[in-house]
Amino acid sequence: MSGLADGRGRTVRYLRLSVTDRCNLRCLYCHSNARHSFIPHEDVLRYEEMIRLVGILRGLGVRKVRLTGGEPFARKGCADFLVMLRRQFPDMDLRITSNGTLLPQHLDALREARVNAVNLSLDSFDRQTFARVTGRDMLPGVLQALDALLGAGIRVKINAVGLRGINDGQMADFVHAARTLPVDVRFIEFMPMGGDTLWCEDNFWPADAMLEAARACTPLAPVAPGTEDAGPARMFSLPGGQGRLGFITPLSDHFCGACNRLRLTSDGNLRTCLFADREYRLRPALRHPRLDDGAIARMVRAACRHKPLGADILRERRGAAVALKAMWGIGG
Ligand code: SAM
Repeated sequence: MSGLADGRGRTVRYLRLSVTDRCNLRCLYCHSNARHSFIPHEDVLRYEEMIRLVGILRGLGVRKVRLTGGEPFARKGCADFLVMLRRQFPDMDLRITSNGTLLPQHLDALREARVNAVNLSLDSFDRQTFARVTGRDMLPGVLQALDALLGAGIRVKINAVGLRGINDGQMADFVHAARTLPVDVRFIEFMPMGGDTLWCEDNFWPADAMLEAARACTPLAPVAPGTEDAGPARMFSLPGGQGRLGFITPLSDHFCGACNRLRLTSDGNLRTCLFADREYRLRPALRHPRLDDGAIARMVRAACRHKPLGADILRERRGAAVALKAMWGIGG
């Protein structure tokens, strides 16, 4: 069967799979002050349904799956699910994005699942700033998770959302981490996600300004794109650095032309673009007794044909939220 191509000639190979919309942190970029309700349990895909869907996508050429959320480890059984995925798909590039707070007790499972990398969200090495960003005083636990992952020989990338007026004075801490630890530290521009987003121009720290701040701390040499699995990040090495620094620029310099992703919400809605609100409801199809894998594969193929360019949506909505759902509901 041929691969999963979209209407613009891009090939889809990567699934970001949200296992839950629940999270134990309240990060200001992800949440807002608005009230919201979580997806009812009966609407959340069962792990077996997720495995079936990954199998269908595997048949369509998907080679990389990232578990995300919400906080993946906030859902019971997530670590076992990772191991099941590995057993079922031995050659899949299998990754997870986590805030790290619940991670240390799952280290054995991460090892058993041979996760290719863990992306750890860590927006500040300063305890007060961490609490301000995440709404919880949990930095020590995250640092413990970082140590435990490195100690277990698991590859780690740190993701930090760059926030003007909040963590923009702390570049030296991030540079220190990239110099002294074997981790890629990647900054992400704050995106206006969610209808009631707390995004505002004052907190937006563009990647060029982040790069300038990093250059004030250390010389940086660009890493040629495509030489490593940097994803959409522009990567830089630093003298004597065990790790590297990277910048992800969804707003200031979009990378939609190379987008190879699909997203699945925990209630089984397929999104072909982070910024597009259009979702394709796969849960009813997965639960339909007469729809086989081939029928679901055809639905996915049809959805992919209309995969938009997120940059167009961003341009149209300049100044307003680019999606009705925030990242906790989509899967960041
Ligand atoms: N709970 C997990 C975690 O914290 O890593 C996974 C889900 S969380 C939604 C994943 C990541 O999405 C966040 O750490 C952050 O990097 C990113 N994110 C969420 N909202 C964002 C926003 N408005 N702008 C930029 N990045 C955002």
